[in-house]
Amino acid sequence: MNATMMISVMSTLALVPTLSAAVPAHFSDAAKARLADSIELEKPAYKLNVVYFTGNDNAPIADYERRLSELLLYLQQFYAKEMQRHGYGKRAFGLNMLPNGNVDIILIRGKKSHKEYSYGSGHGACLEEINAYFEANPDKKLSHHTFVIMPTHYDAEYGDKNPGGVPFYGLGRNCFALDYPDFDIRHLGQNTPEGRLLTKWYGGFAHELGHGLNLPHNDGPTSMNDAQGTPLMGSGNYTFGLKPTYMTPSSCSILDCSETFAVEGKAPAFYPDNAAEPVVEALNIAYDGDALNISLRCQAEFCVNAYIQDPEYTVNRDYDAIAFLMKREPADAGKQTCTVRIPLSELKRLKNVRSGEQGIDLLFGTPDGSRFRTRIVFNWDSLKPGDSIPTGKLEFWQGY
Ligand code: ZN
Repeated sequence: MNATMMISVMSTLALVPTLSAAVPAHFSDAAKARLADSIELEKPAYKLNVVYFTGNDNAPIADYERRLSELLLYLQQFYAKEMQRHGYGKRAFGLNMLPNGNVDIILIRGKKSHKEYSYGSGHGACLEEINAYFEANPDKKLSHHTFVIMPTHYDAEYGDKNPGGVPFYGLGRNCFALDYPDFDIRHLGQNTPEGRLLTKWYGGFAHELGHGLNLPHNDGPTSMNDAQGTPLMGSGNYTFGLKPTYMTPSSCSILDCSETFAVEGKAPAFYPDNAAEPVVEALNIAYDGDALNISLRCQAEFCVNAYIQDPEYTVNRDYDAIAFLMKREPADAGKQTCTVRIPLSELKRLKNVRSGEQGIDLLFGTPDGSRFRTRIVFNWDSLKPGDSIPTGKLEFWQGY
């Protein structure tokens, strides 16, 4: 290496620790263009574990380090810009960076054939082996959150043009996505077969990662969707990259209390085993004819979101839960008062508004990532303007 090369390499390296502020020289032109307006992130206290997992009989897809690094960094910027827009600072899930500017993606070869890590049942064996890897290499485990990426299967059903066969969902603090040869940022936003395929799988990648970072499904109020597009944690996995896609205030409030978004020097220990469930001292949900007005007071300080649900809110049928971040009054004596007004005009896409059964979920979160949810079900047919909804005894469950 001559002196000029050395200076050139050193200047590249010197730019790397600024976390996305500089685009590595070996990135594609498409990535350089996409990342040109990157914002510099606050320094994360914890980082997302990114694992590329194969069977013992298949291999990573060519050039995965560059392709996935570009896609991860662009996604990190999306999250960071949404956090900043909602007033939480330049924060996103932390990524461990290599000196060359790639994301440090841990490659783990499984003990079994790739068919044994299938969509239906493969996640358990995969996570077991990843946990064993982290036990043997504790310095590689950088948070409680792990993003697992597997190469597509190749068989009669799946292949380069129809990738699949592998786990693809969020599961607690782990989430799964897939890789295939055209999974490349150069196709982003293109109205081509590769572009549409990329939105399907990159939108899914972005959305499943949201689950792995604690996010539940949620949709936005009507006026917000009209102005900003589709929420990523609603059906934004089908729009990301092609049409306007955004994070709701609710999603950002939850990410504010998610481990890998914590900033160095301001980070608590996350997810304590002994988290105390909320003690609600007062809760009133009043209907004034045009809106639901919720006010609550609880012991300890919580960030509270209200989700309005249609009656079919089982798992994966809750994409259309419309989320409202409750306004917090300054805490007094360690207690929290929160209020929100929910105009019915903001619930246009929900079924059953003003007739039949409706659910209101209240989601409570604390800065150490502890999360509780409770559900109030009521019937519109018996509700008149001026009434309050009976809330009964609140039952909480942990997590969102
Ligand atoms: Zn989902």
